[in-house]
Amino acid sequence: MTFSGDFTYESRPGRVVLRPGAAVSATPGEAEHLGLSRLLVVCGRRGEAVARAVADALGDRCAGLHAEARMHVPVEDADRAVAAARAAGADGVVAVGGGSSIGLCKAIALHTGLPLIAVPSTYSGSEMTPVWGLTENGAKRTGRDPKVQPRSVVYDPELTLSLPVPLTVTSGVNALAHAVEALYAPDTSPLIALMAEEGVRAMTGALPELAADPGDVEARGQALYAAWLCGSCLGATTMGLHHKLCHVLGGTFGLPHAETHTVVLPYALAHNSPAIPDALTVLGRALGTDDPAQALWELAGRLGAPRSLAELGFKEGDVAKAAAQVTGQPYANPRPVTADGVRAVLAAAYEGRPPSVPDR
Ligand code: NAD
Repeated sequence: MTFSGDFTYESRPGRVVLRPGAAVSATPGEAEHLGLSRLLVVCGRRGEAVARAVADALGDRCAGLHAEARMHVPVEDADRAVAAARAAGADGVVAVGGGSSIGLCKAIALHTGLPLIAVPSTYSGSEMTPVWGLTENGAKRTGRDPKVQPRSVVYDPELTLSLPVPLTVTSGVNALAHAVEALYAPDTSPLIALMAEEGVRAMTGALPELAADPGDVEARGQALYAAWLCGSCLGATTMGLHHKLCHVLGGTFGLPHAETHTVVLPYALAHNSPAIPDALTVLGRALGTDDPAQALWELAGRLGAPRSLAELGFKEGDVAKAAAQVTGQPYANPRPVTADGVRAVLAAAYEGRPPSVPDR
């Protein structure tokens, strides 16, 4: 990779603890470190048992449990959660769960300024970003605000043992997508390149081990380490075509988040490949290949992940509508985002055929 001595990098303060059992053993200490004594614990319905264990460990520092997180943070859910935090007299919130639980806590933080501790149970990376999202009338709005970025993140490999293999794989590829797009972001930097390369190497090393043995705590820890690195890349840079495509496919067409990232990533990367030689060098090193897009497509296939938008319920007739939305607003991307180009990416992803790198 050629060195570019022209960049801006901003790091935000935040603590990270990674250790088996940390959800219960480390969260109270993080609350104490932040000087918080009345925490509202937030989770989704499915994660309630683990969240209750965290709440119990917090003891007198727990001000209540709010088990209502759902995908994409509907505004009415956010309003209820804000009211619950106020009613409990909370001085902080703890998210236990995936991107949905963390997203609901970010909505509370956005409206109240309360500090947030995240205890992630997937590899979405939301815990490392100042990005919030809210869904209203079928449209998802996102924004950046430093006050929603968690002050402490507690990574507990044991918390992810219950992640089924399909979600382990797709959530892991969701993390890879952050690293991939960070490498060619307009605000990338040498530090981001280091984190992205290590994140991709660690995640693609862990996923085959977890597909073979989902109970491997060491590999679970490695995947969370990778999620931390990839999430940090997401938090520090501006994402391009891939994230925009997934945002539209999830927000407007209701496609599932991690699975959509998994299907689209090889095609978005192939589309951008002619314009990103430095990023391809880094990815090639991390993946041990000279064709990163093809390697990611093959990895998904080997691990039994979905490889076509058709499998996820997307309709071929919606390709043009989705392409129009993706091209509707200007955003950073290494190659121009044209309607024809986006339609070609979506058509290939719809079919799930091997990705092909276009001419320049
Ligand atoms: P999620 O939190 O909805 O979890 C997906 C599913 O997995 C849910 O059904 C959940 O109950 C289940 N689950 C979670 N952890 C589990 C575990 N350990 N064992 C068993 N089941 C478990 O989804 P996600 O993929 O983690 O996150 C996606 C959401 O996060 C989307 O809304 C996305 O937009 C958002 N996101 C935001 C950012 C950001 O920076 N703001 C970054 C990434 C994702």
